[in-house]
Amino acid sequence: MRIVFVGPPGAGKGTQAKIICSKNHIPQVSTGDMLRAAKANGLLPADLVARMDQGGLVPDEVVIDLIGRRTSEEDAANGFLLDGFPRTVPQAEALSELLEKRGTKLDVVLALDVPEELLVERAIFRRTDKRTGQVYHLKYNPPPSDAELEHRKDDQEDVVRNRVRVYQAMTSALLPFYAERGLLVQVDGVGSVDEVTHRVLAALEKV
Ligand code: AMP
Repeated sequence: MRIVFVGPPGAGKGTQAKIICSKNHIPQVSTGDMLRAAKANGLLPADLVARMDQGGLVPDEVVIDLIGRRTSEEDAANGFLLDGFPRTVPQAEALSELLEKRGTKLDVVLALDVPEELLVERAIFRRTDKRTGQVYHLKYNPPPSDAELEHRKDDQEDVVRNRVRVYQAMTSALLPFYAERGLLVQVDGVGSVDEVTHRVLAALEKV
């Protein structure tokens, strides 16, 4: 299956994506994770690091190139889940072109719906264990005592609000783009991880 996962920052895309990918044996391809890895390795130019830290988007051509290369790897031959890409209509168009050239296409675009106040609360309490990459919520899914916790720079409240605004501005065009093509399925992202997983799996079964 070729799945795109769309949702605002803190909607639970990453958490749900990991579950879906392990059930379907497909790789989770996250442009955010790839960009953070490049940044950690000192491979991301300073102006792009600054854009990320402020919650802005990096240029389309940078992420289109990343996705083109990652989805041509062997483990993505039978499917993948894109998490955080596309975020703009030009990215969505580039993705369609890329898949068309390979004689494939997307199966579904899942959009997770979560209200803004809940997003902010999720992001400011979100912590990642540096050693395992496991994501925790300080209130609802507390980490073990030996975790080496990291709070993403772009998960601070003012930055999260900016990221939500950037997301809303972008999806106002992206969701209709996929709706017109009959690919969009909206899923209520409010509830426990298990509740949302049930909804997502039910949506995928209908595809
Ligand atoms: P994420 O982990 O998906 O929230 O992404 C973190 C940050 O990486 C975003 O705030 C952007 O700065 C950058 N980024 C990730 N994916 C994209 C994309 N598809 N287009 C542009 N910027 C992106």
